[in-house]
Amino acid sequence: MRMACTVLSLIALTSSGWAQVDPNDVGHGCQVCHLTGVKECKAHPSSLAEAETEVLYCSVASSCKDCSGALLVDCKKCSGGPGNIEMETRQLRSKRFKDSPTPAEELFERELVRVVTAHFDIIIDCEEIKDGSRKMSAHEVAHALATEAEKAAALLDEQFDAKLHHYSRRSRIWFWGDPKDHLLVNQKVLGTNDGGAFKLFGPDPAYSAWTKERGLENEGMLIVSNGVHIGVHLLLSNLFQNQWIGNFKAGWFDVGAAHYYENQRFQQVTTYCIDEADANLDYEDGRWHVPVRKYLTKNKESLLPNLLSKISGTMWDEEHALAWSLYDWVATVHPEALKPLLLGYKERKETRDLFKQHLGMTIQQVEEAWRTWVFDTYPVKNPKPRKKL
Ligand SMILES: [Zn+2]
Ligand SMILES: [Zn+2]
Ligand SMILES: [Zn+2]
Ligand SMILES: [Zn+2]
Repeated sequence: MRMACTVLSLIALTSSGWAQVDPNDVGHGCQVCHLTGVKECKAHPSSLAEAETEVLYCSVASSCKDCSGALLVDCKKCSGGPGNIEMETRQLRSKRFKDSPTPAEELFERELVRVVTAHFDIIIDCEEIKDGSRKMSAHEVAHALATEAEKAAALLDEQFDAKLHHYSRRSRIWFWGDPKDHLLVNQKVLGTNDGGAFKLFGPDPAYSAWTKERGLENEGMLIVSNGVHIGVHLLLSNLFQNQWIGNFKAGWFDVGAAHYYENQRFQQVTTYCIDEADANLDYEDGRWHVPVRKYLTKNKESLLPNLLSKISGTMWDEEHALAWSLYDWVATVHPEALKPLLLGYKERKETRDLFKQHLGMTIQQVEEAWRTWVFDTYPVKNPKPRKKL
């Protein structure tokens, strides 16, 4: 208690509202705390230790009576040290998130398992989730999704030369164990009577789904993979400009990107964004290197004129794989073209003009270059998919 008061007296709030302990006033720590003034809070599961420090906020960690989500506690053997600055910053950030509940938390009048990262605001509200032979808690699933989605977003940011301020808001991703809660949140917060998995694109992007939805099956790997895939759709819909391009003739880019980042993380694709209830797509087990190569060998006629005219919701089976592969080619061979292509599509420009301008090729030339690249680089055996989160 004594330390808490001492430290609080050192805090000054900056104009941005962040805590700042005056660096001239902190102590030097002691041998016990390795001269930091703080020690790791032991009240958190060690399996999540790294994951906790990677996120901006975790509702479970912030409920810790010992550290209030800072993950650090005062060293009892000394009067503080430089680590107190980090501790205070984390405490105040945690408090700021905790004090501003989301509309979903207000709706249910309870605190939900919520993890916030640079790009995403994740809620997982359910009982245990399967992960192979073990069970995962909602808290573990939230962190697994946070880690994977942030890794996908980091790659995307690098390829698009995107910074956080190029996004309008964090993308919200929610999974509910009770279909009634899912429907209620869809109605009251997202404003739709759609009881299925629902995506809201544009300025305040969101995705809400039931964990036992077909294709998710209450399985950790499927839920996290799905969250990463949809997360990419949400990011692209509010990156640089608030505009979803999946409804234009740019479905290949929107769908291809979502599959591409999902596949980068899991070496397998499990999500197909088809809204029709009876759609049950599963092309070649979502492992596409070998099937695409075979498909291109068998189908020698031009495929791109048809593929490039599709919107996201009307693509079927092999078109998903072809879109993935074409995006894979651009992202690997011409990554600098990704940003201008996205911006061009958002401005409703035609593919043939965009290809000419940013790839220096006609559609026919792109088809030839892409096919040659696939034959030259795709492996003869599919890479092994990830088995565990
Ligand atoms: Zn100490
Ligand atoms: Zn946590
Ligand atoms: Zn703690
Ligand atoms: Zn999709």
